[in-house]
Amino acid sequence: MIIPKKSQDEGFGGRAVYRAVQTSRLYEQIVQQIEESIAKGALKEGDQLPAERDLAQQFGVSRTAVREAIKALREKGLVEAYSGRGTFITSATPRSIRQSLDRMMRGGGDAQGGTIQLVEVREILEPEIAALAAARADEGALKTMRDALAVMDQAKSNPDAFIEADLDFHLALAEAADNPLILSLIDSIVGVLREQRISIFMVEGGAERGQYHHKKILEAIEHRDAQGARAAMREHLRQVRDDSRGGSNQEVSDTPKQPA
Ligand SMILES: [Zn+2]
Repeated sequence: MIIPKKSQDEGFGGRAVYRAVQTSRLYEQIVQQIEESIAKGALKEGDQLPAERDLAQQFGVSRTAVREAIKALREKGLVEAYSGRGTFITSATPRSIRQSLDRMMRGGGDAQGGTIQLVEVREILEPEIAALAAARADEGALKTMRDALAVMDQAKSNPDAFIEADLDFHLALAEAADNPLILSLIDSIVGVLREQRISIFMVEGGAERGQYHHKKILEAIEHRDAQGARAAMREHLRQVRDDSRGGSNQEVSDTPKQPA
């Protein structure tokens, strides 16, 4: 970032510009490799990066280049450095997408429109996620889904517990799809989803209707029935679309409070 600016200041001399770009590439290549490892899931949230000296050795570069790369990764919010403990991978990618989505949802001033747009995004993503989950879910993922359903059964009169378990269920499907990019996308809209689900929960019978569909989705996944899972998720989202229409109206008319 600093270097291209410097190159500009130096004018259009080809040699100087070329050398500057090469210098900047060194640490950018390290940044890029670490970003790729995060995207592929080889580095996960909470993983510790090796010490500066070891990284320099692995990448075959100076410690200065490593330090510069770490600084860039910190600025991007991908790592967090704790003095005395080391440098750790954060989950900043979903967080920054979530913040942009939150801003878009709130900034529009059109709650109804935003809600429908969110359902549209879910209709594009989640039926295919359910189909992938049917093909790829392992025992651990199935157990997470069953547990989430059991919590929702117990929590019909406890909105917070119900909504958290609902989110867990949908996240478990995204996790079962076994694609870290899909998981990041879903993880990033979870905060927005939470608000939408609060309005659905307020609709009479919304929770029961949701559970009916959750059970059909899980059943299809347990039978490794990708088509059935896709269809069941579509129906669930149609119900979400209908119930959030009712929920938004209700919120506008008699529940002015904005959930945190
Ligand atoms: Zn649901």
